[in-house]
Amino acid sequence: MNTKVALQELESRFNRLVGTSATNLCTHCGWCIEACHVYLATRDPALSPVAKTERVRKVLRRSHDWLSKIFPFWTGAEDLTEEELEKWTELAFRSCTLCERCVINCPMAVETPQIMAAVRGTLTSLGKAPEILDQLADAALAREEAADAMREFYLEQIKGLEKEVQDKLGDPKACIPVDQEADMLYVPLSGAHTIVPPAILFNAVGASWTLSMFEVSNYGVFLGDIPRAKRITERILKEAERVKAKEIIVGECGHAYAALKWEAPKWFGGPLKFKVRSILEVIDEYLREGRLKLDPSKTLDSVTYHDPCNLGRKGGIFEEPRRIIKAASTDFREMRPNRAESFCCGGGGGLVANLDWEDFRIKTGKVKADQVRETGSKLVVTACDNCLHQIQELSEHYGLGVRVSNVGQLVVNALIAESRRKTRKAA
Ligand code: SF4
Ligand code: SF4
Repeated sequence: MNTKVALQELESRFNRLVGTSATNLCTHCGWCIEACHVYLATRDPALSPVAKTERVRKVLRRSHDWLSKIFPFWTGAEDLTEEELEKWTELAFRSCTLCERCVINCPMAVETPQIMAAVRGTLTSLGKAPEILDQLADAALAREEAADAMREFYLEQIKGLEKEVQDKLGDPKACIPVDQEADMLYVPLSGAHTIVPPAILFNAVGASWTLSMFEVSNYGVFLGDIPRAKRITERILKEAERVKAKEIIVGECGHAYAALKWEAPKWFGGPLKFKVRSILEVIDEYLREGRLKLDPSKTLDSVTYHDPCNLGRKGGIFEEPRRIIKAASTDFREMRPNRAESFCCGGGGGLVANLDWEDFRIKTGKVKADQVRETGSKLVVTACDNCLHQIQELSEHYGLGVRVSNVGQLVVNALIAESRRKTRKAA
């Protein structure tokens, strides 16, 4: 019964990209194998991109390929069994971080992560997704429902952070406006490290901005659950409308940027009413316009940058962080390979949140750990919280001896502080 429903669910997620990638395109040439950090770290052929998708392909071929319908033993097509379905949770949620490195190394551009995302969505609909991802997605929606009740508590917390902004800028009137009318709606992650540095920079340039009531992360994306991902995104779009924002600025988070920038227009049937930018693009703009002054000698360590897959390979944000880091430090060292060919840190696709697969995540992060070590850098800068946590853990496990920072904090450390903030509007 489960397998019949599973197949229906899988087929309902077919579009031209998934369909052709899943059934027709792969020539089994093997070019993708060495592109995948999961394979490279484990040397297990069963964990190569082609082997992972072949398990889904076999099942789809059984009903979507005429030869396989008649002679399945010739083509290797197989019916989906309960036993195989049980193994798909690990296949799609653990063994693939949806990093897309295999796609750009595939001569046929087979969309392995899209196939895996379709499997994730199928498993989610069957209640077979990792519980923690489900809980985190629901928590984001619950936060919207409880927004009014939590408002005072949240404002109190932010008031506490405001003091740090004022101290850094030497300006007792520097502020963190929340949910007020402004040109830019800044949406952070949970944690002061994604709120205080941008708040300092926005105040330093006198930007018209307001902090969101919500967090930007979207676990519906990791679940392959588009309806839930849409609802999580919708909270932010409604808020942007309410505060009359012209732009939504996404905090340092890879998947949230991809969701708002690239997926949301597809989900909502056309361009959004708001421009969407990463905070990296904003900081880069401030620096290029001379609105922020940095002293690179304040960064004493050699620095390397890890390209988060969603911002870099999928989002095209490569040069902005590099310009920022070079303005904020004196010894920048590239990892090799980098930019579009950068390896996933091993924590993407929601893996960082799942403690059950911690050992696997650390094992498959070895490729990134080796890259970091080869640079000889003492500070790893990255622009995604998942990557940040993963690289911190990789440093401990593999003895890399590096500190890890987000881009905003690096900039604030190098900032020659002065405030041009606008006066806070009455709440
Ligand atoms: S590189 Fe592409 S075509 Fe070749 S085996 Fe991998 S997925 Fe198939
Ligand atoms: S998307 Fe990334 S993790 Fe998944 S198979 Fe491709 S290279 Fe490996």
